[in-house]
Amino acid sequence: MTEQFAAGVLAIQRPSVLAQVLREAGFSFKKQLGQNFLVDQHVLDQIIQAANLTSTAGVLEVGPGAGVVTQRLAAVAGRVVAVEKDASLRPVLERVLAPFPNVEVVYGDFLQVDLAALWREHFEGCDSVRVIANLPYYVTTPILFRLLEAGLPIAQIIVMVQREVADRMAAKPGGKDFGALTLAVQYYAEVERILRVPPGAFMPSPDVESAVVRLTMRVEPPVSGVSAEELFRVVRAAFSMRRKTLLNNLSQGLGLCKPVCTAMLEQAGIAPVRRGETLSLEEFAAVARAWKCVTRRGEP
Ligand code: SAM
Repeated sequence: MTEQFAAGVLAIQRPSVLAQVLREAGFSFKKQLGQNFLVDQHVLDQIIQAANLTSTAGVLEVGPGAGVVTQRLAAVAGRVVAVEKDASLRPVLERVLAPFPNVEVVYGDFLQVDLAALWREHFEGCDSVRVIANLPYYVTTPILFRLLEAGLPIAQIIVMVQREVADRMAAKPGGKDFGALTLAVQYYAEVERILRVPPGAFMPSPDVESAVVRLTMRVEPPVSGVSAEELFRVVRAAFSMRRKTLLNNLSQGLGLCKPVCTAMLEQAGIAPVRRGETLSLEEFAAVARAWKCVTRRGEP
């Protein structure tokens, strides 16, 4: 599976080479930026395989670090744009990525980058664009939501996340991991778990297990008759207190009196004593549609 790189490409995925290149650049790891660089060939292979890239595909990478994944992406994709917050990695990335003219590194905070402008500038000629990231764990959720809600033509998002975040993303109703994050991710994308990754796959090793997840973006929302904003207003209210019933959480969170809230849940075909974590996305959509009727009637 491993592509044979041309002569002159640094084998940065080898821990000894990575350590030497970082040392020569005077680089020191910043824990606060979630810097755990991937050094496991098998995991790298699996990520590249999951991305299924062609020479006309574009890749947006969040946080290239020392360029371990970036090199492999550049060898198969048409265009790679990587956004890195830590400008002290510039000498490392310039050296490691020198043989790849199809890569551009943008230095800045991914949460601040103008994504629409970046898209126009770099990905116009690409037939599909995937986002690939070994995400810094301290900022996983905001980065994911930025991508999911960006309204950009992203085909797939392949991300390394903390294993418990992967469990929440892929959870089914009724389980302990099912919650607002599950519903939000599954509203925008189909979720597949690709592989579990042990701490030893990184330099330095994190304290937690990780997992690679592939999100295939939906072309149409999976539920109808309700906007994302309306749906997630109801979802947020339903999960505001974990052990409370839907009736209690929704009446408080949506500002409805209990008889109106009970009638709304009955209209949606949902027992008021159920808890948020037992409802599917479709059932939440039914509640949100019933809530729209209530708000139209102006009932308290
Ligand atoms: N992709 C590399 C790899 O797999 O070896 C590095 C992954 S490391 C877990 C996360 C990277 O994201 C680091 O290089 C870190 O500096 C960068 N980073 C952290 N916060 C960021 C942000 N807000 N925007 C862009 N990059 C960020």
